[in-house]
Amino acid sequence: MKILLPIDGSEYSKKAALVALRIAKKHSAHIVLLHVIASSGQERKKWMEEGAEKLLQVYKESMINDGLDEGSLTTIIEGGDPADQIIETAEIKGVERIIMGTHGKTGLKKLAGSVTEKVLRNSKVLVLGVPPNYEI
Ligand code: ATP
Ligand code: MN
Repeated sequence: MKILLPIDGSEYSKKAALVALRIAKKHSAHIVLLHVIASSGQERKKWMEEGAEKLLQVYKESMINDGLDEGSLTTIIEGGDPADQIIETAEIKGVERIIMGTHGKTGLKKLAGSVTEKVLRNSKVLVLGVPPNYEI
C-alpha cells in the first residue's frame, strides 16, 4: 500500500504524519511525503526550495527515528496550487490513500482548510482527514 502525506509544517500536518506513520508501520506501507511550494505564477525562489527541503528532511528523520524503514519513504517537492498538486501526485504515484490534516497554517477558523476542502472535492483517491482534536 502507498500513502500520500502532504505536509505544510503546521501542527495539524504533524499529527497527520503520526497517523500515517502508525498505519504505514502496521501495514508495511510506503509513504510519499509531499510539500507543495504554493506559487501563483511567480518563479520558485532558492530560499523556498531550501525551506521545503529542510521541512521534508525534518519529517523524514523523525519518521525514521520512529522506526520507519528508509526505503519505505519517498520525498517530493512540487510547485503550484497545493490541492491540484496533491491530487496529481496521488494519481501519478498510484497511492491508495491521502492522509492530511483538516487544517493547516491558518488554523481553526473554518470547518476545514481550503486545501483539504479542494482535495476532498476533486480527489478520486480516498482521503483521511485527521481532525485537530484527534489524540494519538
Ligand atoms: P487555508 O490555507 O485555507 O487558509 P489552513 O492553512 O488552515 O487553511 P489547509 O491549507 O487546507 O488549512 O491545510 C490542511 C492540510 O493540507 C494540512 O494539514 C496539510 O496536510 C495539507 N497542506 C496544506 N498546504 C500544503 C502544502 N503547501 N503542501 C502540502 N500539503 C499541504
Ligand atoms: Mn493552508
